[in-house]
Amino acid sequence: MQDCDIAIVGGGLIGASLATALQRCGMQVTMIEAAGAVQQNLDQIELGSRVIAIGHAGVGLMQFCGAWPLIDPKRACAYTNMQVEAGATGKISFNSDAIDSASSLDCLGYIVENQVLLAGLQASAEIQGVASYYNTTVNEIREEDSDIQLVMDDKRVSAKLVVAADGGSSWVRKKAGIDMRRLSFEQLGLVARIQVTRPLQHTAWQRFTADGPLALLPMSDGAYSIVWSTGKARAQHLMSMSVTEFEECLLTVTQGKFGAVRLIDKLKGFPLVSAQVEDYFSGRVVLCGDSAHQIHPLAGQGANLGFKDVIELTDQLLAAKQSGKDLANRKHLRAYERARKADNTVTDTLMCTLHDMFAGRMSAASPVFAVSMSLFDLLSSVKRWLIAQAIEAEPVSAELQALGYLVPLSNDASGRD
Ligand SMILES: Cc1cc2nc3c(=O)[nH]c(=O)nc-3n(C[C@H](O)[C@H](O)[C@H](O)COP(=O)(O)OP(=O)(O)OC[C@H]3O[C@@H](n4cnc5c(N)ncnc54)[C@H](O)[C@@H]3O)c2cc1C
Repeated sequence: MQDCDIAIVGGGLIGASLATALQRCGMQVTMIEAAGAVQQNLDQIELGSRVIAIGHAGVGLMQFCGAWPLIDPKRACAYTNMQVEAGATGKISFNSDAIDSASSLDCLGYIVENQVLLAGLQASAEIQGVASYYNTTVNEIREEDSDIQLVMDDKRVSAKLVVAADGGSSWVRKKAGIDMRRLSFEQLGLVARIQVTRPLQHTAWQRFTADGPLALLPMSDGAYSIVWSTGKARAQHLMSMSVTEFEECLLTVTQGKFGAVRLIDKLKGFPLVSAQVEDYFSGRVVLCGDSAHQIHPLAGQGANLGFKDVIELTDQLLAAKQSGKDLANRKHLRAYERARKADNTVTDTLMCTLHDMFAGRMSAASPVFAVSMSLFDLLSSVKRWLIAQAIEAEPVSAELQALGYLVPLSNDASGRD
């Protein structure tokens, strides 16, 4: 039996960042991942179409983990401008000048391929000394009074706390008996890389249509990653088209703004859901990232919310450790739940509302419609919210800062006790 402080099931973006951050804070962490490790030679990772737009809180976490310096700057595209369009005339655009001048930030965030970020995190987990098991699944969880055990085919791990970071369909969450409220948008998010003849430099662009939003996210090699969220039937139709037909559809929705478009890899579709749990922990099991919440990707916030979960959970577990308490201490897990549930739920509600409003599904009698009377008002609110998300830092304790966590804002995000 292998003993550790914390066992994390799931080594995706959230599990791998949590494992690394906790190990860096002096805890012994074991990470169990069902898939194989990503290619660890970061120069040899093939270009991928799945990207995330990572905000500054996430970048701060990547720096604390030691993953950010491992990533080739050529694979992280800073974006300084954002344009959001809707209907025939609705349009807002803003750039990094909108960021408070007291801040040291000079971009709105970075577009990074998921696999590149994950490879950086898995490498930093190894450097920090996390015990990582890939191609491994857990068969059974046994909770005792003073510990919790994970049973695998050829090994057992005993820990004080198990973190479910095994994604939206979390097996660990089900085993812990935690319910999740789930609503399907009946849409797929179509993802692919494209090349265009008239790129908008360092600009993340999004157009809302009645069918759903289309985003073009700039990649460092000059290509764009598209995220096209659309009804399942239309998505299947788009996926069944010839490349030329699909490119013509894309040209129509982008209204020629990017010139001619060329599809450079295969379209992939991801089902889109809104999902939230009521309880973030039960006994010695706590949830983090998509295992606790999933949102519509229209504002690129899913993983960013998960990174903020990681920062808060790290902070609470560090406080429990430093005061000599059990790592499954209810008070600290409750504080984590309180801090993160509000943000995750509000963001989910906002995404659902924006999705419905832009799709024109809300009736004029709806209170939300009443407060957002014009498209211009709506887009202006979206703009303020997007800027806040890009630059917002998760407040952290002086103890975490003393361990080297740099709050990524130089103005209002000072320490918290
Ligand atoms: C189309 C699309 C675009 C998106 N764009 C953005 C964006 O721009 N910005 C953003 O912030 N977010 C974005 N998101 C959301 C983001 O991708 C997710 O929130 C994020 O990947 C969740 O990470 P996770 O580690 O919690 O879960 P996952 O990525 O699902 O990772 C879970 C891991 O657990 C492993 N696992 C599963 N079951 C087991 C098991 N039983 N045992 C061991 N391991 C297991 C899996 O192999 C996987 O590696 C987007 C989502 C979609 C669908």
